Amino acid sequence: MKVAVVGAGIVGVAIAHALLDEGHEVLLVESREPAFGPSRGNAGWIAHTDILPIASPRILRQVPKFLADPLGPLSIRPAYLPRLLPWLVRFVLASRPEAYERSIAGLAALQGLALPAWLARTESTGLTRHIHRNGGLYAFGDAGTMAAAETVAKRQAEFGIRVEMLGPEELRQLEPALQPRFAGAAFHPDAAHISDPHQLTLLLFEAALARGAVFEKARVDNISTGERPALIGPDGWQRVVDRAVIAAGAWAKPLATALGDAVPLDTERGYNVSFPDLGGLLSRPVAFEGHGFVATPLDSGFRIGGAVEFGGLEAPPNHARTKRLYDKAATMIEGLPAFESGRLWMGFRPSLPDSLPVIGTASRNPHVFHAFGHGHYGMTQSHATAGLVAALVAGRKPAIDLSPFSPRRF
Ligand SMILES: Cc1cc2nc3c(=O)[nH]c(=O)nc-3n(C[C@H](O)[C@H](O)[C@H](O)COP(=O)(O)OP(=O)(O)OC[C@H]3O[C@@H](n4cnc5c(N)ncnc54)[C@H](O)[C@@H]3O)c2cc1C
Repeated sequence: MKVAVVGAGIVGVAIAHALLDEGHEVLLVESREPAFGPSRGNAGWIAHTDILPIASPRILRQVPKFLADPLGPLSIRPAYLPRLLPWLVRFVLASRPEAYERSIAGLAALQGLALPAWLARTESTGLTRHIHRNGGLYAFGDAGTMAAAETVAKRQAEFGIRVEMLGPEELRQLEPALQPRFAGAAFHPDAAHISDPHQLTLLLFEAALARGAVFEKARVDNISTGERPALIGPDGWQRVVDRAVIAAGAWAKPLATALGDAVPLDTERGYNVSFPDLGGLLSRPVAFEGHGFVATPLDSGFRIGGAVEFGGLEAPPNHARTKRLYDKAATMIEGLPAFESGRLWMGFRPSLPDSLPVIGTASRNPHVFHAFGHGHYGMTQSHATAGLVAALVAGRKPAIDLSPFSPRRF
């Protein structure tokens, strides 16, 4: 079949490969450039061991504290609040205990496919050297945070996720550049990180072209409900295909809505600063619990980033937020270069309130499929999602139950 994929972020590129595996003719349509969005600058963590959704009873208790600090780990731009309210209501609903358990089941199933799917794809494309399997750390500033993390670790163990709780000395032995101020850490030996999100997405994009995918730079404004979906763009641009996949990240909402799926997609804007060519500070990504940021030793340099800012897709970045992240990081990691020498970036996480992506068939056209909304885990879940979408396109039963990801779940 001729299958169009809208969006050449990591999810669209991964889907292109999975469709090529099945012998389809693939048209990859991107309005800007491949890896334009968050697939460019994310933290590069293959965080498949994270199976607890952001929306949770615990987060609800912490929200007031976070919001009190306008440059803290979570903020809402006041002008954006009215538009965000429906999302926030859904977030609160998704945090109720029974909804939380449903989200965990969905997230754990998807995350379970994530690392094998990455390993298989990097193997088949000759890119295995881009995956670093050194685990990941969650560092805790005080005994209280550490005790709460032990409860989380028990929950993760129920899903077969290995977590080792480390004391301060063991943490320093693993990562000597961390300041001696931590009460301990949770070590996830099976987590991984990649060489560099931008570079790897582009390499996978080029590999898809080499396998026969065709790239077109065009903005898709609508997809028809006809038997053979027509992708419709400005100035009479149109492409008719057998199947279409929407992998447009944080920008997917208008396309999904026009196809009958008014999903509550919004964006959690995230910030980071990268120091090109700085190596050797850490051996694996470290998340600083309660501070909302992570540090990753990428092959391209050292990156510190995170935070969640609700402000929509249009507002310019506020890098005072990045400076705040850096200032905190400088009290936790020895040897950081001056902030001014770093490269600043802001990206749009495509987020649904229940921390699960939308993967499924469009309501108004059974030949169009949704694959967007991966929030904090799109890099991790890209190739797993691709396998599920390829099954949907082929009319096969997907490897996991897709009802938690249905566009009609809201
Ligand atoms: C600070 C930060 C840190 C992160 N860290 C991690 C991490 O460590 N691990 C992890 O797993 N995830 C992480 N993420 C999340 C991850 O980056 C995203 O979930 C993921 O990149 C989303 O990929 P995507 O392909 O769905 O979307 P995108 O990368 O946004 O790609 C969508 C593409 O679609 C194109 N497009 C949109 N609309 C149209 C249209 N109408 N027509 C044509 N093209 C269109 C866009 O131009 C874009 O290129 C992080 C995100 C941020 C912001």
